Amino acid sequence: MATVSFDAVEKQFEDGTVAVDNLDLEIVDGEFMVLVGPSGCGKTTSLRMVAGLEDPTGGRISIGDRVVNDVVTRNRDIAMVFQSYALYPHMTVLDNIAFGLRMHGVGKSERRRRAHDVAEILEITELADRRPKQLSGGQRQRVAMGRAIIRQPKAFLMDEPLSNLDAKLRVQMRSEIARIQRRVGTTTLYVTHDQTEALTMGDRVAVMRRGVLQQVDTPKVLYDTPANLFVAGFIGSPAMNLIEAEVAIVGDNLTLRVGPDTLDLGPEYLRLHPTVAEYDGATLACGIRPEDLEDAAIDTGAPPDRRLTVDVELVEELGSDLMVHATLRANRVATEELREIEADATGRAADAPGAAGSRSGVLVARCSARSVIAENSVAQLTVDTPRIHLFDLGTGVALT
Ligand code: ATP
Repeated sequence: MATVSFDAVEKQFEDGTVAVDNLDLEIVDGEFMVLVGPSGCGKTTSLRMVAGLEDPTGGRISIGDRVVNDVVTRNRDIAMVFQSYALYPHMTVLDNIAFGLRMHGVGKSERRRRAHDVAEILEITELADRRPKQLSGGQRQRVAMGRAIIRQPKAFLMDEPLSNLDAKLRVQMRSEIARIQRRVGTTTLYVTHDQTEALTMGDRVAVMRRGVLQQVDTPKVLYDTPANLFVAGFIGSPAMNLIEAEVAIVGDNLTLRVGPDTLDLGPEYLRLHPTVAEYDGATLACGIRPEDLEDAAIDTGAPPDRRLTVDVELVEELGSDLMVHATLRANRVATEELREIEADATGRAADAPGAAGSRSGVLVARCSARSVIAENSVAQLTVDTPRIHLFDLGTGVALT
């Protein structure tokens, strides 16, 4: 096992495309790090540089205490798992798993013993004598993992290994891969464009945009305190509602004007986030997660100055909660990074619950199942104001 680190790494292709720009990132020993971002953000290129399949044009890549920029792939002691898992059709599961060891001159009995151990970790011992065509997609994926594990490499590199699987199996394999990685404890760099996959699998998640690392932290910190508008818009499903709001500070009290409504955030908010005071009179991006909104008709204890008036368009009953899609009487934030996220998401998750929330002008609220909000009505939603996020509209930087 080993630490994998990027130190001011840059990759500029011959045509001038800067795929990775000054990347500093350390994947600590045994960590499961997920690299996530929209198509073309540079995640695959980053992983391929660790693999030695692409040469950096600047900076250093280290595996353990060794700089590997000039080390060829086969001497880097890494194992890769890709979406196309090429298993040998004529070999049994066990022989497929053990194959790499044969190439490294490990003796037959040792190979069998280690392959059995790995099959046990993968919980596929009963499939040991089958051939690939007698396996399901998920089982084949597990065998492919087995081939990586058996070599006991310093690091695993995985590039969208689940993208060939159907949605249900993908969800199942997410936890399966995370379980196996924790069991063997091998440092892992995992690339995906799917933020849900990233949040559910990673010890930490690194979010990239246009070759630049935006934020790296635990899934919880990324979700609760996104560093900028890009991360705020990218992490979370349905996405965070991002609305233009005008700041007004009277004495030590902070209010936000959102269309015809005023949200009173009180003095406590300003005390916790003092930089907001510099924005008196300015328009900011106000971020509200769908679960921080509630139907005012059932949230009767909430003060009146914490409500937004919306025109309800669509109500999705999910059993556990009610997903309310509504039009807000205020402007949605439409900066370049958010348009980019929307363009990337279109077609990818069009059938996911709450996916309609990516449409501009639409607000999504995850209300209690007890709510009786009806389609084509005007409704009031209460806002959990201490949980509001504020961002500078020009720079996109979080102020909270
Ligand atoms: P995806 O999820 O679509 O695979 P990604 O985040 O993995 O995207 P990369 O494949 O790393 O992105 O590509 C980053 C950028 O580098 C993109 O703009 C891509 O078009 C460009 N790129 C990748 N390979 C080359 C190449 N060989 N020559 C020129 N540009 C390239």
